[in-house]
This record gives sequence, structure tokens and C-alpha cells, in this order.
Amino acid sequence: MTNQPKTKLDKFGIAAALQEIAALMELKGGKYRFKAKAYNAGARSIQAVGNLDQLVAEDRLTSLPRVGDALASQIKQLYLTGESSVLKGLKAEFPVGIAELSTVPGLSVAKIKQLQDELGITSVAELRAAAEAGSIRNLKGFGAKTEQKLLEAVAANKTKPKPRLHLHHALNTGERIFDYLRSIDGIDQISFAGSLRRWEETVGTIDIVVSSKTPQALLNRFLGFPMVISHRLTDSNCTVELADGASVSLTAVTPKEFAATLLIQTGSTAHLEKLGQVSNVGKISSGRAPQSEEEIYRRLDMQYIPPELREDHGEIEAAFVGKLPEDLLSLDDIKGMVHCHTTYSDGKHSLAEMVAAAEAMGMKFITITDHSPTAFYAGGVSIDRLKRQWDEIAALQENVKIKILRGTESDIVASGKLDYPDRILEQFDVIVASIHSRYKMDKQKMTERIVTAMRQPVFKIWGHALGRLLQRRPPFECDVERILDVIAESRAAIEINGDPYRLDLEPRWVREGRKRKIKFVISVDAHSTGALNNVKFGVAMARRGWVRRGEVLNALSANGFAKTVRPV
Ligand SMILES: [Zn+2]
Ligand SMILES: [Zn+2]
Repeated sequence: MTNQPKTKLDKFGIAAALQEIAALMELKGGKYRFKAKAYNAGARSIQAVGNLDQLVAEDRLTSLPRVGDALASQIKQLYLTGESSVLKGLKAEFPVGIAELSTVPGLSVAKIKQLQDELGITSVAELRAAAEAGSIRNLKGFGAKTEQKLLEAVAANKTKPKPRLHLHHALNTGERIFDYLRSIDGIDQISFAGSLRRWEETVGTIDIVVSSKTPQALLNRFLGFPMVISHRLTDSNCTVELADGASVSLTAVTPKEFAATLLIQTGSTAHLEKLGQVSNVGKISSGRAPQSEEEIYRRLDMQYIPPELREDHGEIEAAFVGKLPEDLLSLDDIKGMVHCHTTYSDGKHSLAEMVAAAEAMGMKFITITDHSPTAFYAGGVSIDRLKRQWDEIAALQENVKIKILRGTESDIVASGKLDYPDRILEQFDVIVASIHSRYKMDKQKMTERIVTAMRQPVFKIWGHALGRLLQRRPPFECDVERILDVIAESRAAIEINGDPYRLDLEPRWVREGRKRKIKFVISVDAHSTGALNNVKFGVAMARRGWVRRGEVLNALSANGFAKTVRPV
């Protein structure tokens, strides 16, 4: 056995240093932008690693995903000495506080350096104080006007809403924090709370609730999490900003208080308010402390309400009379991976790799749905290449148990027609039809476009329905209710897309679809094997829309699914 080297920095500290390197390279710009991406990716790999000591001892850091020789050498340096030559070099190039100050519009690197050399300014707070005191106007090249502008910029920067985290980023960062907290002695229970536990599409603050016999000590230990850059501490809560831009709120209580605190921290506000109005919440705290949320709802004489449903959308009324669905969709119900791309179009992994990964997840079937020719920017598959793919699927099927369905993600072109001629469309096992272009049609035209598509008998699954990209592109304008009416008539299904940038169709429309008895598929829209894990986000959106197992086509057997979605 090799002697294990002594570490100066743990994996979180190393990750924080790699992120700092990435941030500085980003500031350098040009080709360093690409290097910055590599360092960020390396930071994520290191945070996730389980056996860092061993990897360093055996010189096997490059066996980690996204870690090459250069990165491995920096990680080793950080591990052994707590320092990195690359970080040192970058820090020498840039003035102190550059990362923070560069967020102020109008401040170039040269100006930041000048402010530092002449006034000793290293933070936004110091910049503001200096501007308010009128000491910036006297610097060469600044003047009173610039000083005023800087003050305004600092104020505007403060009021600008911070972008929210996409669900998968919030979850990743949250899990890193879980790892860290679990390594602390005396920790009892730990859970996500807030919007992350309710699986909202985006997360403003990662809420976590923990219990311990010494909650205050635990909060103090949390401040040692290496990515923390600022914090606010009270008796039972610590809210921090992390180097990767996430805000985290950690609430620490004694074991007795855990269940009630978790319920309150999970919210939503609307759910808690309604609970307070219609039930005798005094029962929660009378007598012995409740052991679990299940026990709390029981004391209130109602069914347990899963976090995804806690929005005051009728769940409390239903729980009182025992009408909350017991068969809400769960991850275990999913038997097939729907909507998978391969290297035939814009996927990262080959047909064989995607199939193997789905099989390894225990799936009974997978639908291969590469882009159709109109989506030329995404490598849309020509008829020739499509036939080659069908041959490859047939050959591969001989060697695997999982059922491979040949499909397409066919564009709904502007006229509402589907891509590929009918004689080809009829030969698919499954067609997901999606809109990828001309998002800005007027409402009526867009509605007609989709309705026309849906009336075609081959149309069986409506892909990423309203085309939204979270925080980037709103859903397109159309008469959703009318479209849902037509879908109900034509017996097509709606995809609930698990790509964390889409999460489309949104829960309120899913509920409208359910009223019309429309079926759903939970899709992954996977462009890599890793993205098959998107299925959990799709399931969460479905649960938020109250979708039950029997309403989901890919909870059926491979044959049941294939029969239902067959184009003719
Ligand atoms: Zn698509
Ligand atoms: Zn797709």
C-alpha cells in the first residue's frame, strides 16, 4: 500500500480554487474563455469525487471525467500545498477584488487597478464609500461625472434581480453541501426544503433544514464550507452566497423541532396559509413533538401531501376528504426512455451508447428520435441516413434485451405539416412532433399551425409543447385551451419534457390537459447518456400537475407503449 500524502486542502477547497481560476480566466477573455470552461468542469468533477486521497496517492487524477494533465497537476498542487501556480500567476496579473469589482458596469481592468493603487479599493463596498466621499473624482481620467455614474451603477447592480438557478444546478450544488454537512459530527436529519424540495422549475435560494443536538455549532461549521464568500448568521439560520453564484439558506434546529420546521421551510406560503385557515394547527405542537411530516398531516386529520403538491391548488381540500391520488406518478413507474438523440443528429453519444445506458438504468424500451431534415442546424437526418440508422437499430436489437423503437423528432413546419413524406412517416414506430422555428408567429396563426399538425393521424406526441427556454425564451403565443381540445379529440399525447432548461409543458397546463383526459409521456430529450437522468425532472413536473401512473404512456410495457403511439 502506498503512503497517503497529507492534504492541505479538501475537495471543496480545491474546487473553490479551480472556480476562482476559471473566473479570472473568463476576465482575461479570448482563448482563456475555453480554459475557464475546463477549470469549471474540473471543479464539478472534484466536488463529486469520493476517493480523492487515493487518486492523488496513485497518481490517477486523470481518470476523472474532464480532468486532463494540466488540470490534474494543479489539483495535486492544491491538494499537497494548498496553492496553485496558475492561480498565483493570475492573481499577480489582476488587482485584488477583481472578480467582484468587474461586475460593476464601466469598470475596466485598468481602471480597477488604478482605483486600487491610488485609493486602496478592493471591493464594491469600498468603491461605493469612496464615491460617496467624493474621492474618486480627483483621480486622473475619472472626474465627477464618472464618479456619479459609478454610484448609479453600483446601486443598479444591487437592485438587479439575480438570475435563478436551473433545477439541476441547484440540485448539484445542494448535494455537494449535503456531502459536506454529513461529514460533520452530531448531525441528525437533513433535507432540502423550499422551492427545491417542491421541484419548482428554477430555484432562487437552496433551502436546507438540518437537526442536531447543537444546532448553533452546526451553523458555525457550515461557514467553513469552502465555497462560501459571504454570510448572514442568526440563532437558527445561516444564509450564504457561494462562489458559483448560488444562495443557500441553512436552518438548524434540535431533533424535536425538525418535522415542523421542515414543513414550514418547505412552504409554499400559499399552502401554509390555507393550512392555517382551514385546520387546527394547534394540534401540531400539542403534546409530544411530531416525528415526521406524515405525522403532522395525520394530526390535522388529512392525508399526507407530497411537497410537489403544496401550492394551494386544491390539495388541502382533497386531503381532508381522502381524495388525494394515491397513485401519483413516481420515478419507479417509468419503463421507457422517450425522446433520445444520437450522433445521427445533434446527440453526443452513439446509438449503441444511448441504448446501453438506457438498458443499464433498467428501462424496458427506448425511442430513438433524432431530428428531421428541416432542422438542418441540428443535423437533421436525411432519408438515406435514416435508413442506415434503421439497419443499425435492427442489428443492435439482436444483441440487447431493451426494445429499441425507431422514431423521429419531426419538425412541425410553418404550414403545420410534418417533415418527411408520408410514406416515410408511416414506417416509424413513434413520432414526436415539435416546433423549432418561427416562434414569433401571431397567436392565431400559431394555433392553426399546431392544430393542423395534430389533426394528422400520424401525430401522436407533442414535443416540448410551448417552446419555452427557462429564463431565456417565453412560451410562444397560442390558444392553449383550443389546442388541448383538439388533442383530446385526436387522442395524441403531450410530452412533459425533462430537459432542465425546458420543463415544458408547465404544470398548470398539464392540469388542464388532465381535465380533458389527455395522456402524457415523460421525456428526457437526451442529447447524451447523462441526460437520460432528466427523467427525474420530467416526473417531478408531472407530479406537480397531479399526473397519475395510469395517465402516462411510458409507464406502460414496451408493447403497450408501441401500440398506443404507432403512427398508423
Ligand atoms: Zn426539440
Ligand atoms: Zn429533442
